[in-house]
Amino acid sequence: MPGVPDSFHCDTCDRDVAAEAATRTETIGGLDPEKWQSFCCPDCGRKLKTVFVGLEGEE
Ligand SMILES: [Zn+2]
Repeated sequence: MPGVPDSFHCDTCDRDVAAEAATRTETIGGLDPEKWQSFCCPDCGRKLKTVFVGLEGEE
C-alpha cells in the first residue's frame, strides 16, 4: 500500500513496530478516515504516525 512504511518506531518502548502489528485508529480532527489512518503502538498505545492511505486516483 503506497505511503505506509513497513514499520514504525515507538520512542516510548524504544522498539520498532511492524505496520501490520500496529493498531490502526481513525484520525481525529476532520480527516477522512478512509484516506487517513493513525498507527498506534500495540503495547503502550502511543500514536506513532498518521499515514495517508487514500486510493490512487482520488482527490
Ligand atoms: Zn510503545
